[in-house]
Amino acid sequence: MPEGHTIHRLASAFDEAFLGARLALSSPQGRFAAGAERLSGQFLVSSEAVGKHLFLGFAPGGRALDGGSPESYIHVHLGLYGSWTFAGDEAFARVHAIGAPRRRLGEQESTPGSSGAGRGAGRKDSWRHLAPGENVRLRVVGPHGLADLTGPTACAVIDPVERAEILTRLGPDPLRADAEPQAFVDRVRRSRTAIGAQLMNQAVVAGIGNIYRAELLFRARLDPFVPGSDLTASNVEGLWDDLVPLLRYGARTGRIVTTEPEHRDIHPIIRERSRGTRQNGDEDPGVVPREKSFYVYHRQGLPCRLCNTPVRDAEIAGRSVYWCPRCQSVRRRRAPRLRGTWLD
Ligand SMILES: [Zn+2]
Repeated sequence: MPEGHTIHRLASAFDEAFLGARLALSSPQGRFAAGAERLSGQFLVSSEAVGKHLFLGFAPGGRALDGGSPESYIHVHLGLYGSWTFAGDEAFARVHAIGAPRRRLGEQESTPGSSGAGRGAGRKDSWRHLAPGENVRLRVVGPHGLADLTGPTACAVIDPVERAEILTRLGPDPLRADAEPQAFVDRVRRSRTAIGAQLMNQAVVAGIGNIYRAELLFRARLDPFVPGSDLTASNVEGLWDDLVPLLRYGARTGRIVTTEPEHRDIHPIIRERSRGTRQNGDEDPGVVPREKSFYVYHRQGLPCRLCNTPVRDAEIAGRSVYWCPRCQSVRRRRAPRLRGTWLD
């Protein structure tokens, strides 16, 4: 599932590509036809991520850009399989495909949503001729390019009141400037629920998914099963302080990497599995390869990068959690500082 950094990346991509433009909307698949018709021809006036939720703000005259509020929003939650694919002229060079790694869609690798979007870089206007696939829930077309949404869990037109209702259900989002870490600390420590379950609860902290959960707990040396109420305030503050730069790195690069450089080549002989851990950009030059990116996520049975103990897995909150039973056996401890300069 795309985690919060991906949605922030999407929000900036929409900013860059479409903000202030009058957009044509359609639903080639048909399931969002009424919503698309309602807002087509309006201006995109805001683009905002909160946790895993994307809110695209629309106004009929574009005037919300001058400080007013959008009148309507398209609310999108990508869920497990959703993704956006972009195509356009040189203004779209930075954005390509954001969301679930394409292979997980069960489509041919180079043609997400079978729309061919993302390949329109050749002729200047070639993106205009890309026919949408029949599974494209929403197509957004602006003056310089288009974006196709496939496979979302939610895609709906909502009003400002409904947006506010969604926000009240969400905990603080570490990537937002207005986030209140104290709300996270208090909420975690109030409950007997295991910290490994609380981190997956979007009402506790918004935007964390399965990868950040496992990696964050490893970096803090915390047992995933320890009740939140057993943690000290500095334990929980340490989690937040580690999470912010990790998520920012993810939002900047589009990839989750949690390993310190000195821990990436501990076991060069082991041919690591990488089942299910594909990320967009895996084939790009210069990225930290996926088999070196994580301490414990999907590394069950493989030796811990720090102590050689086999990494274990078990289920918490409906998803597998991965941890090192030796490094993470101490249930109350001040988190060591692992954060290196590579994150800045
Ligand atoms: Zn270990």
